[in-house]
Amino acid sequence: MPSKDDSVQYIGQPAPLLHTEPAMVIGFPRSITHRHTYGKLSPFFKGIKEGKLLATRCVNPECEENRLWLPPRADCPDCNQPMEWEEMPQPIIGTVHTYARVEYTGAGIELTTPYFQIDVELPGVCTIFKGYLEHGEAEIGMKVKACFRTDEPTNTILDIYWIPYEG
Ligand SMILES: [Zn+2]
Repeated sequence: MPSKDDSVQYIGQPAPLLHTEPAMVIGFPRSITHRHTYGKLSPFFKGIKEGKLLATRCVNPECEENRLWLPPRADCPDCNQPMEWEEMPQPIIGTVHTYARVEYTGAGIELTTPYFQIDVELPGVCTIFKGYLEHGEAEIGMKVKACFRTDEPTNTILDIYWIPYEG
């Protein structure tokens, strides 16, 4: 039998009562730290904070898809074999495939609004790479250039962004 000193204590803050009728409603703010591993894709995130864009390529000679993948895949989605890393040559110029002008973001988006979320076609890449346009107005077919947040990296996907490219 635990003594009274060993009893479980309430250490929280009382929830503020917001409404009492027709039902009790309380304020219950929560805050969590989400630990997320980049796992086998860590080279990609390390690369963008260093100003490099790393893609993956399947080197299985029997695989139908031998173009690059961006975002990278650790293992080939087509044949399940491990993929190899390859750095995109600079400057990295892409073409806007489509875009959305974002006015209202979901929780956790760390960009001011409005901004243009863009889907970028890249030469030699079999996938469409998502990102955001740092300035300017997005248009389908416009050329964009990859830039990197190397000075104060965020350690997130926001360490790569795009600017209009007048080639
Ligand atoms: Zn493959």
